[in-house]
Amino acid sequence: MVAACAKCCGFVGSVQAQLEVIFGEARFAPLLAALGGLPQRWQESAGAGSGSAVRCAQGCGEIYCSEACRDAHLQHSHNLLCTGPLDREDHPLLQFKYHALEHADTLLLAAQVFAFLINRAKATGGGAQATETLMRELLCFCHAPFREACRAPPGRAKDAEFYAHTDGVVNHAAGLLRAALEPHAPQEVAALFQGGNLFFSEVLGMFEYNNIDVEVASPLGAIFISRAQALVAASTSDPQAAAELQQLEALVREKEWVMRCVWGEETTGIYGDDEDLAKEGAQLLADDVDTAMGDDPVQDQKVATAAMADARIQVSQMTLEQVLKAAWPSLHGTGFFSSVARMNHSCAPNMKIEFPSNSACLTATSILNVAAGEELCISYIDQEADVQTRRRRLLEYGFTCSCSRCLEEDSMALRKAQKRLK
Ligand SMILES: [Zn+2]
Ligand SMILES: [Zn+2]
Ligand SMILES: [Zn+2]
Repeated sequence: MVAACAKCCGFVGSVQAQLEVIFGEARFAPLLAALGGLPQRWQESAGAGSGSAVRCAQGCGEIYCSEACRDAHLQHSHNLLCTGPLDREDHPLLQFKYHALEHADTLLLAAQVFAFLINRAKATGGGAQATETLMRELLCFCHAPFREACRAPPGRAKDAEFYAHTDGVVNHAAGLLRAALEPHAPQEVAALFQGGNLFFSEVLGMFEYNNIDVEVASPLGAIFISRAQALVAASTSDPQAAAELQQLEALVREKEWVMRCVWGEETTGIYGDDEDLAKEGAQLLADDVDTAMGDDPVQDQKVATAAMADARIQVSQMTLEQVLKAAWPSLHGTGFFSSVARMNHSCAPNMKIEFPSNSACLTATSILNVAAGEELCISYIDQEADVQTRRRRLLEYGFTCSCSRCLEEDSMALRKAQKRLK
């Protein structure tokens, strides 16, 4: 949906190219054509370079923000996972990637971990023993076989059908990955699969417990804000600036309408209460979950048209400042960060996590004064929720929270209940 570097997750592509992704539908063609050379000018005024992408030299189609990212990715794991040199469709590596795209992105992340372990083991002499040492290191993190660690989609129990489906997806993926990697590193692969598919399943389970949602904000927002500020200042005396400002504003309003109507929750990051719970486990069952729309296409069309007209009105009521500040489609992913994975949870945390630069490079910052020796904590969940909701969500991480805030809100609820009884 947005082009991003396969190594650092930074946005790739010129302003023009990114606008073409957002306004991809044919009905927006006149809007883009009317902009002429403006996107190019916006790009230059922001000093954002050419935005051109670097492609994998072996022709797999992977794109990068720079040659440095391309080379680093090749050394990290892509040397074993690049599909560029493959010439047959039934190659296990291609089959693995199709399978992962169909069922769960985290399977691709697990493949990167396996390839990285092989590369690291080989760098220290290779063989089964070197591989086993690295496997033990990784299993120091909280983990469990995937079937235990994963969550069922909302409204579904972890019943026999659920287990059969997830086991099937995991085992099929593990078999394909093993076949793909074996010719490159027979000894290391033998070690990785010495317990059958258990280690593969445990790595997936480790992601379930430790992974952090990555959200990289689009650089377009900052580019448009700074350009608009310059144009507002110039527009009183310069009719050309006033005209450009008008075009910029029209574009930003159109984007806000698109965000509300065409782009779903996936890209805007606006999740409903229940969707929040539907993560990987739900993805694995995506084929079985019904869509929200009803059976009556005429009625659905009417509802959709009304919602789109409604969004038009809402957007027209926003000030220029408000539409400029509204989010652009951001990049959503998931990542395993070994340092933060060791931090415990608190509902009143003293650290916050952000992705401030145009990359998946995580920054943890203290938001309260921290005394020497005091534990650093992050919040695993939405902090705004009430104590019951928080507790329900945290149960999925396998514990009942008894942080100071939970205890306080608990006793408040108890006092209220006692008052009612009196
Ligand atoms: Zn990069
Ligand atoms: Zn490649
Ligand atoms: Zn708590």
